Amino acid sequence: MSQSYVIVGDGIAGASAAETLREEDPEADITILTDEGEALYNRILIKEFAKGKLPEAPISIHDESWYDDRDVDLELNTLVTNIDPDAHTVTAHDGTEYEYDKLLLAIGGTPTQLPVENSDAEGIHHFWTFQDARNIKEHMEQAENSVVIGAGLLGIDLAAITAAQDVEGKYLMRGKAWWRYALSQDGAEIIHNALRERNVEPVFDSGVDHFEVDDEDRVTTAVDPNGDRYDADFVGIAIGLNFNTEILQGTDIEYDNGIYVDEYMRTNHDDIFAAGDITEFHDLILGERAQNGAWGSAKEQGTIAAKNMVDYGTEEFRWVSSYSITHFDFPFLSFGHPTLGDDHVEAKYSDTEWRRLAIKDGKIVGGVLIGDLSPQTKYKKLMREQVDISGQKDTLVKQDFELEDLEGAAAEQ
Ligand SMILES: Cc1cc2nc3c(=O)[nH]c(=O)nc-3n(C[C@H](O)[C@H](O)[C@H](O)COP(=O)(O)OP(=O)(O)OC[C@H]3O[C@@H](n4cnc5c(N)ncnc54)[C@H](O)[C@@H]3O)c2cc1C
Repeated sequence: MSQSYVIVGDGIAGASAAETLREEDPEADITILTDEGEALYNRILIKEFAKGKLPEAPISIHDESWYDDRDVDLELNTLVTNIDPDAHTVTAHDGTEYEYDKLLLAIGGTPTQLPVENSDAEGIHHFWTFQDARNIKEHMEQAENSVVIGAGLLGIDLAAITAAQDVEGKYLMRGKAWWRYALSQDGAEIIHNALRERNVEPVFDSGVDHFEVDDEDRVTTAVDPNGDRYDADFVGIAIGLNFNTEILQGTDIEYDNGIYVDEYMRTNHDDIFAAGDITEFHDLILGERAQNGAWGSAKEQGTIAAKNMVDYGTEEFRWVSSYSITHFDFPFLSFGHPTLGDDHVEAKYSDTEWRRLAIKDGKIVGGVLIGDLSPQTKYKKLMREQVDISGQKDTLVKQDFELEDLEGAAAEQ
C-alpha cells in the first residue's frame, strides 16, 4: 500500500522535502498544506523586490504546475489548526481533516511584534512574506522618512530598502553596535559607515518606547526610551521571530523555542518530523541543541527529513549554515553560530575588511567575514571537521591564512 505524507508549510524546507519524497517514494501520496496564498517563492529575494530592483516573476520558484507535474497535492490558503498524533490526522481552519502515515512540520516563524503602545498602527511593517514585501514596496515609494528597529540580519534588509528607495532613514539600535552579539565595535563600524553613506543614520542606545499616531491611526513618530522623537511615516520592525508552535499545544510533541528533533529530523513521535527554521535540532558539530535561520540550512533539513521519513536512519543532518548580505560595496558573510562560543578571535585589515571567529572548546563554531570572503571554505572545513585550533588563534586570522599554516594535528586534517 502506498504511504501518505502530509507536509505543513510550503517554504523551502517543506517544498524541498516534497521534491525528495517524490524522488524516494514514487508511489506515495504527498500533500502540502500552506496558509499562504501562493506557492514557494524565494524569501531571500523579496528584499530585492521591495527595493525596486527585481520584478515579481523571478522571485517565484514554483508555479502550481510544478506540483501537478510531480503529483503533489498543494492546498493553498489552508491553515492547519490542530494535530492529532494518535489519530494520525491534522485539521485545517475550515474543519477539513487530512490523514497521514508520516507528517512533516515545516512551519517556520512569524515576526515578533514590538510590545509598545501603537505598534499596530498603520504604516508599521514587519517583514517575512512576499505579501509583506509588496506592502513595504508600495508604502516606501511614497514615504518621506523612516525608522527601522532591529539591529540584526533582517533589520539591515529593511534599512537597505529605505536606502534603495531614497527615503531618509533612522536605524534605532539598543546597544552601541549593529548585531552586537556577533560583531565587535570594529566590525560593526564598517556596517555603520556603509549605512551612513546611504543616508541611513544609525542611532545607538535607542529603541522604541512608543509610537505616536495621527487621527487616522497612522504612525507619525517613534519615541525612544530617552524621550528622543523620530518622525517617520514608514516604520519597519525586525526584532526576531516567534516560532509557529501554537499548533503543538495540547499534543505531547516536544518543543521549546522550536520543535525538538534528532539528527534525522524526527520528533519524539516516530511518524512526525520537522524541518527548517522551526527545528531545535541536535547539532552534531556544535554538540548541543541549536536552531538555524537560514535558507540553505532549511533546504537541507527538508531533504534530510524526507529521506528519513521514507527510511529512518538513512542520513543525518550535519551542516555549516551561511548567510550573506549583499547590500553594500563589500561582501559580508556569517557562517555557523557566530553568536555562540566561549572564546573568539578577530582582526581588522582595512576600513572595509574584518573577520571574527567564534570558538567553543578550542574549535571554530561560527564566524563573520567582511570584505574578503575567500577564507570561508577553510574556516567552514575546520568547523565541519571539528579541528582543535587551541593555541593557534592568531594564525587563523592572518590575512592570507592557509590551512597548512596550522601546526600539528590540525594541519593534517
Ligand atoms: C526578508 C528576508 C530575507 C532573508 N534573507 C536571507 C538570506 O539572505 N540568507 C539566508 O540564508 N536566509 C535568509 N532569510 C531566512 C530564510 O528565508 C529562512 O531561514 C527560510 O526561508 C526558512 O524556511 P522554512 O521553510 O523553514 O520556513 P518559512 O519559509 O517561514 O516557511 C514556513 C511556511 O509555513 C507556513 N505555515 C506556518 N504555520 C502554518 C500552519 N499552521 N498551517 C499552514 N501553513 C503554515 C508559513 O506561512 C510559511 O509559508 C531571509 C528571510 C527573510 C524574511
